[in-house]
Amino acid sequence: MDQPKPKKPTNVELLNRLRDVLGGRRVSRALGDRLNYSHDLWPRSLLEIRRGEAPYRPDLIIWPETTEEVSRVLKVCNEMRTPVVPFGAGSGMCGGVLPVCGGVVLDTKRMNHIERISEESQVAVCQTGILGIHLEQELNRRGYTMGHFPGSFGISTLGGYLATRSAGQAATMYGKIEDMVLSLQAVLADGTVIHTRTAPRRATGPDFNHVLLGSEGVLAVITRAHMRLHALPAAREFRSAVFPKLDNGLEALRLMLRFGLRPTIVRLSDPADTSVTMKALGLSAQGCLLVMVFDGRSAQIELESAKALEICLANGGRDRGEEPARHWYNHRFAEHFRQSPLLAEQKMVLDTIELAATWTNVKPLYDAVHKALGRQATVLAHVPHAYPEGCALAFTVLCKVTTEDEFKRYDRLWQTAMDAALKNGGVISHAHGIGRQKVRWLAKQLPLALPLLQGLKRRLDPNNILNPGKLSVEVECPC
Ligand SMILES: Cc1cc2nc3c(=O)[nH]c(=O)nc-3n(C[C@H](O)[C@H](O)[C@H](O)COP(=O)(O)OP(=O)(O)OC[C@H]3O[C@@H](n4cnc5c(N)ncnc54)[C@H](O)[C@@H]3O)c2cc1C
Repeated sequence: MDQPKPKKPTNVELLNRLRDVLGGRRVSRALGDRLNYSHDLWPRSLLEIRRGEAPYRPDLIIWPETTEEVSRVLKVCNEMRTPVVPFGAGSGMCGGVLPVCGGVVLDTKRMNHIERISEESQVAVCQTGILGIHLEQELNRRGYTMGHFPGSFGISTLGGYLATRSAGQAATMYGKIEDMVLSLQAVLADGTVIHTRTAPRRATGPDFNHVLLGSEGVLAVITRAHMRLHALPAAREFRSAVFPKLDNGLEALRLMLRFGLRPTIVRLSDPADTSVTMKALGLSAQGCLLVMVFDGRSAQIELESAKALEICLANGGRDRGEEPARHWYNHRFAEHFRQSPLLAEQKMVLDTIELAATWTNVKPLYDAVHKALGRQATVLAHVPHAYPEGCALAFTVLCKVTTEDEFKRYDRLWQTAMDAALKNGGVISHAHGIGRQKVRWLAKQLPLALPLLQGLKRRLDPNNILNPGKLSVEVECPC
């Protein structure tokens, strides 16, 4: 016989039960909060808000402080079939936190403690609501770095990095977030607390950390992480070069990595991006600018940076000295803070389409996407991260979006880019994740794996309360 469905609670019932867990001050139903937590930095949502629309609003916002509170809250919400959207700092650019079924937004930012730093093992144990910048400042004070510097460094949390498989600017040297994490603690939809074991490595079947990494709030709320640390580098060197063509710069990068060099940061611009970057310096340059930063001991990085420059020159590059790299480095976050994705006065939208491919595919991918987007918008592109096997490509698109037709054009831009990526051997996201924005293309990227992931979701969260509408195009709200 069918089990009777639980009665859909009114917001007041839910409010009272959550207040029992968190007290009155850490539960809000204020309209201002509901509007603020109705979006992240996905330009499409911001465009809708600019038109006076906020299509999705949560009913309540909560601020738990401990894993135990998250567990109790999830038990209540699961029992009441109420959606729960984990929320870090809302810096995501693909609608990952959109409360498409309403419900509760669980803001993790009060879970912001560094619980322990083990100097001996070089491990930090942190709650996941801590902002990246605060974590790094505290580590620096103790002589360490985690090495994770996304462009959104000051406005994003550790939990957000883990839940989106983030990659920072120093990924070439320190790796991506998945290389930095040793173990995780997380709370499942029914309130069960799980954790993986902390060790430098394990061979005990598939690594459960990787099930949670990139899970974008649909499988669990990640509440604590053990993170690897590195001693702060003793010295830093800056180098830059300009190449006549993007191919030359890509080849130089590939050869550097093949040689075994690991610059902390590499950033290769296409001609349009070069002209913007150099203009900020009061300089001009024809071609493609490569900025490089090397961290380590001075004797070692002197040798490494000299070898990198030698490879650049052998591949058609011209030495542009330290200044462009130093200037870019010193302003690398300021640019982002100044710039809203919506350039309201000009009625323009600025968006980033970030992809990745192996060295074999990267130039055809760049050409295909650039050509397709260039017909519809102003496009700049750069390589933000490079690895021995290939690199990421970030396209900055600038286009006017005010009318209904222009909205359609904005959607077409994404369609064009995603289709071109899939056709040319790329992946549809290198670091930003999927959210609501790219879910339409997920089945093409993961034709066999997506149904398995959806099966896992059903097993771990049978009532579909955790971040509904993110792992499938159809939105099935819990009822
Ligand atoms: C200017 C700018 C530059 C950026 N540069 C980079 C970059 O260089 N590299 C990069 O990787 N990204 C970058 N991003 C994208 C974004 O900052 C990252 O995706 C970041 O990891 C999101 O963190 P957040 O705390 O803001 O997460 P949110 O936006 O709040 O959430 C993102 C997703 O993670 C889930 N989530 C958040 N916390 C938890 C948790 N504790 N448990 C479970 N799920 C959770 C949410 O439900 C959502 O699905 C950039 C964004 C901007 C605006």
